[in-house]
Amino acid sequence: MSIGDTVYLNGVFTQRKDALISPLDRGFLFSHAAYEVTAVYGGKLIDFEGHVSRLGNTLEAISIPNPHDAAAWEDIHSQLIARNGLSEGLIYLEVSAGAYDSRDFAGPETFTPTIFLYADHRPLISEKAEQGIRAIFLNDIRWRRRDIKTTQLLSQALAYRAAREAGAETAFMVEDGHVTEAASANTWIVTEEGRIITRNLSSDILPGITRAHVIARLRNQGLDIEERAFTPDEAYAAKEVFTTSAGAMIAPVIQLEDRPVGTGKPGPVTRQVQRLYYEAIGADVEKVAAWALA
Ligand code: PLP
Repeated sequence: MSIGDTVYLNGVFTQRKDALISPLDRGFLFSHAAYEVTAVYGGKLIDFEGHVSRLGNTLEAISIPNPHDAAAWEDIHSQLIARNGLSEGLIYLEVSAGAYDSRDFAGPETFTPTIFLYADHRPLISEKAEQGIRAIFLNDIRWRRRDIKTTQLLSQALAYRAAREAGAETAFMVEDGHVTEAASANTWIVTEEGRIITRNLSSDILPGITRAHVIARLRNQGLDIEERAFTPDEAYAAKEVFTTSAGAMIAPVIQLEDRPVGTGKPGPVTRQVQRLYYEAIGADVEKVAAWALA
C-alpha cells in the first residue's frame, strides 16, 4: 500500500512533496469539501460514472461550482493512473471551497475550488475479502446529511479508532435502534430465510456506488433485494453479513461484537456477490480469488 509520487493539484501534475495547500483553505478550516474514492482494477476505473455523478450532487449541495465535466474528470483520473503506473488501488479526489484572505463562515458569493487527487496502490481483492472482517456497533453521531460525500469525517475517524480498540476492523453505526451503514461502507445482511437486505436510500446513508452496482447485478440474476433498515438483532441473527464500498469492494463480516456471524466464515451469498462483482470488473477470479469460487 502506498500513495503514488505524482499527484494532481489545481490543474498541475506535480510531485507529492511539492503539492502545498493553504492553511486558510476552507477544507481545512470548515471541512467545506467534497471527496470521492474510485476503485482502479487492471488499470481501469471501476463504476466511474456513478462516482462522478455523485460528486456533482455533493458539490451542488455544498455550493461549490463543479470545476470539470465528466470527460475532463475522467481524463485527470486516467492521467494520474498512467503517471503512477497504478494497476490496482484507488484514486482519491477532493474538491474544497478554496482559500481566501479572511476566515469568513459564509465565504465569497462564488467559490474558487481547490482540486486535489492522488493515486493509492493497494490490493482491493485482498486478504480481508478472503478472510472477512470483524465489526462492532456504535451510536451514529454523524450529521444529518450523510447522503452527500463531504469530508465531515471526524465521527468516522473516531468510529475506526473505537473499532480498532475493540479488536475489530469496522463499526456498524446505529441510530434509533437501526443500523444506518458501516463507518465507510454500506451494510448488508442475509437472513436465515435467505432474504438479502440493505438499507434504503435517504439522507441517513451515503448512496454507495458499489451498493448500486451490486443491487443491479443481483437483480439481474433474478434475486430479490429488500431495501429497508434492519436492527442489530437482525444482524446478529443473520446467516451472512457483508459490506460494500469502492475501497474494500465486498467485505464479508465474520464477527459482530464478540459473536460470530453464521458459521464465522464468509458465506455462499457473499461469495456469489464477490464473484459477480470481481467478474464485472474484469478480474481473473480463478487466479486472484479462487476462494470466491468454492
Ligand atoms: N457509506 C459511507 C459512510 C462511506 O464512506 C462509503 C465509502 O466511502 C460508502 C458507504 C460506500 O460508498 P462507495 O461504494 O461509493 O464507495
